[in-house]
Amino acid sequence: MSPRVTDSVSSAVAVLRQGGLVGLPTETVYGLAGDAFRPMTVARIFAAKNRPEFDPLIVHLATSAELRRVARDVPEAAQKLADRFWPGPLTLVLPRQSEVPDLVTSGLDTVAVRVPDHPLAQLVLRESGLCLAAPSANPFGGLSPTTAEHVERGLGDRVDLILDGGPCRVGVESTIIHIDADNRATLLRPGGLPLEAIEAVIGPVDTPTTNSDDDRPMAPGMLLRHYAPSHSLRLVEDWPPLAERGELGCLAYGEVPTGFGSLVSLPADDDLTAAAARFFPALHQLDESTVTGIVARRFPEHGLGRALNDRLTRAAAKEPACA
Ligand code: AMP
Ligand code: MG
Repeated sequence: MSPRVTDSVSSAVAVLRQGGLVGLPTETVYGLAGDAFRPMTVARIFAAKNRPEFDPLIVHLATSAELRRVARDVPEAAQKLADRFWPGPLTLVLPRQSEVPDLVTSGLDTVAVRVPDHPLAQLVLRESGLCLAAPSANPFGGLSPTTAEHVERGLGDRVDLILDGGPCRVGVESTIIHIDADNRATLLRPGGLPLEAIEAVIGPVDTPTTNSDDDRPMAPGMLLRHYAPSHSLRLVEDWPPLAERGELGCLAYGEVPTGFGSLVSLPADDDLTAAAARFFPALHQLDESTVTGIVARRFPEHGLGRALNDRLTRAAAKEPACA
């Protein structure tokens, strides 16, 4: 790997203090991190990812005590969730402080914020004292990175330094919840924290129907085609006939179908935690194999299965990432 991949926290802090970009390990996926309060740095994040500017970024904090640096108001339900789940794979969308650059929030009156649960991300946040804007460290619309190598391969020299924290423990992006002034909670993106766990703390959460039937994103940036491999991915009810399998890659769950040109079988468990941790690595692996396409079946719709089905549906969607 290139010399830009390091395990040195102090090097990462130095780059960030100078306004540079760091591939940052978190428990969900690797982030492309930069100082959230430097508009030039934030602009570089969008450029490096080729990300449209209507797709706002998540701001990462060292602790929930820092919430007021970016959020002007913290409704009671949000505070409860922060107390219970931070650090962890939960993003809260809250009213923003006016000092947060418009580019971070895509001009919205809200800001997305979370406290990551990864020892290196924590050290970088604490030692730098910065609030870090960090979308996933991959080219826009593509597979999310869960290793330093994925970041290197996807972004190359568009990132100044990559902090290698090993493979991500959770493996899918954070769950995003909007809390309004009346403490009403809405799920904007299923993710690494199961909805069941959130509802156990604050009661029912609105789950707007997914945008699979129309092209209105639930949240800005939640476009239908996203998280996509370069090979075409097809969601199937049943595996294709044996005769067609040789040319195909297969993403299976808790079973080992035979005859595929390339196969990754994710382990089955109660809340799909183990499957989630290996989901993006599996898609990266299948994408690199010499197949003509990838097939997958839906996961059980509970625990982290909800997030995995969301990512699969978007990966299989035909529309271009940025229509
Ligand atoms: P990523 O960091 O690539 O996982 O993407 C972050 C996602 O957070 C975006 O695509 C948006 O869907 C969502 N998001 C960020 N800020 C806001 C906000 N202020 N309101 C609603 N959704 C947001
Ligand atoms: Mg992303």
